Amino acid sequence: MNEAMVRGGQILGGRAQIGMDETKSVAETHRLIGGALCLDMANTLNGHGKPTGHEYLKGYRDLAVWCRRAGILTDRDAEVLIREAASQPAQAAAAFERAIALRETIYRIFSAIAHGASPGAADLAALNEARREGLAHSQIAPTAGGFVMDWTDKAALDWMLWPIALSAAELLTSGNRSAIRACAGQGCDWLFLDASRNHMRRWCTMDECGNRSKARRFYARSAASRGRR
Ligand SMILES: [Zn+2]
Repeated sequence: MNEAMVRGGQILGGRAQIGMDETKSVAETHRLIGGALCLDMANTLNGHGKPTGHEYLKGYRDLAVWCRRAGILTDRDAEVLIREAASQPAQAAAAFERAIALRETIYRIFSAIAHGASPGAADLAALNEARREGLAHSQIAPTAGGFVMDWTDKAALDWMLWPIALSAAELLTSGNRSAIRACAGQGCDWLFLDASRNHMRRWCTMDECGNRSKARRFYARSAASRGRR
């Protein structure tokens, strides 16, 4: 572990004296159940707008770790960004702020869609702006076997936001828009694409919200039948 990473832990993760190798970021094990990059990004907070919300991204380091988990960044990309961020804390804080703002924009847009409402004009404008920036930095790059979408200016601390913004634009303008759902679990506001055959998926995950909801219904039924006796 090098000096920059120790500082990275202090400055960026809000934890004292930690480095990349010493602690697990919760972003490391965050479940990717959205079915689209932009929805998974929205799900890095559960309980949007509530003081009791569960935040998975507590600083720039978490953001980079999560983006590595989501497949946007390679191990090397994440390492470089975390090191760079440690030497430019103000820029890293600003990039993190932009990431959270984009995440909330994405959440509001797709939460509205999931509930059959229209996204707000300001949120659409913000997404358009983020998309424009993403497009301005996107490029096609050759690989050994063909071509991939790549990005210019990967020294920018917020370059991971470009693919996220383009993912949101793509989903919003696709036929999959009608399959966007909000979890029906109590206190859960995760978003996901319902790819089930009968389009009846109600919960983000069966083992968390699904089983909890079933257990709650079971106890409610038991209590009701006890009441009748
Ligand atoms: Zn849920």
